[in-house]
Amino acid sequence: MKVTVLVGGVGGARFLQGVKAALGLPPVGAGPDHHPHSVDAVVNIGDDIWLHGLRVCPDLDTCMYTLGGGIDVERGWGRADETWSVKAELEAYEADPTWFGLGDRDVATHLVRTRMLRAGYPLSQVTEALCHRWQPGVRLLPASDDRVETHVVVDNPAGGADRPGGADTAGEEPPPQVAIHFQEWWIRHRAALKAHRFASVGADQAAILPEARASIAGADVVLVAPSNPVVSIGTVISVPGVAQALAATPAPVVGLSPIVGGRPVRGMADACLNAIGVETSAEGVGRHYGGRGEGGLLDGWLVHTGDTATVPGATVREVPLLMTDHDATAAMARAALELAGLGVD
Ligand code: GDP
Ligand code: CA
Repeated sequence: MKVTVLVGGVGGARFLQGVKAALGLPPVGAGPDHHPHSVDAVVNIGDDIWLHGLRVCPDLDTCMYTLGGGIDVERGWGRADETWSVKAELEAYEADPTWFGLGDRDVATHLVRTRMLRAGYPLSQVTEALCHRWQPGVRLLPASDDRVETHVVVDNPAGGADRPGGADTAGEEPPPQVAIHFQEWWIRHRAALKAHRFASVGADQAAILPEARASIAGADVVLVAPSNPVVSIGTVISVPGVAQALAATPAPVVGLSPIVGGRPVRGMADACLNAIGVETSAEGVGRHYGGRGEGGLLDGWLVHTGDTATVPGATVREVPLLMTDHDATAAMARAALELAGLGVD
């Protein structure tokens, strides 16, 4: 069976472990050669950012480290046994930005990636090269080799038209709204600045990675991980060609709700949903994706036990959706495969 999964970072990576387990693959590391099942992940690149001259790809790295056994399990991102000397030294230089945690071990990944990108390799090949070390047992496909970055339009923290005290330079009012990188909004401001809208910078010039298009087209089933529906899955779908590939694939498409009991299980997805006017509920997200029978994304939508949802054009089923351990996560993946009409022994 060929399974293709659309994913973001922490939620996506943990779900991929469950998909592997459901297919009889080890949650961490590569499976045996000639295994009958395979998993491809189409990974969000909207969080990617240049920091201190290094290209950082948070969601790709979270997937790679989680599936390759290098993740800090407790934190959910970054390397296990991390130290922070580089970060402290950068702070001593007052080198901006100081709000992003670049760990010492992690820096090596970004150095290798940046060097390869500068030598002309596309991100997909760089990712493949990094995965030689980590052996995630899943083909990690960036949604595009082109730059597609999520930026957030917020009220200017430096003050806008209604700022008390007037302009600081003669006649020059600061703009009332500015677009900042998603990472700055998410990490530096903890999503507390009101987001007016999200922009996928570069999306209009970008194209789906051909391997991702082929993976979606040739899959037996496409799963939409319980990842952030706006800045993970939404950004993947904003890459030109992804929505078309999903619409055209003969494979059933089944999604899992990241919203349980009206709240995100982890993180601040509600702030993202508020910004785009979608209710923070399993039904709200399901309807936002839409049923395939109505021109949307989903043939099937899994919601957590006790949540209810009606999504026109999609079949909804209630199952436990908390990724508390590998068994629980594998059961979620099995439920998704079953809803797609595919069973695995
Ligand atoms: P990020 O890129 O690191 O933010 O990770 P993702 O976008 O892949 O996943 C974040 C989403 O995962 C959040 O919106 C959470 O609500 C969701 N999530 C995390 N843990 C669980 C879980 O155990 N069950 C479900 N259903 N969703 C989860
Ligand atoms: Ca992310």
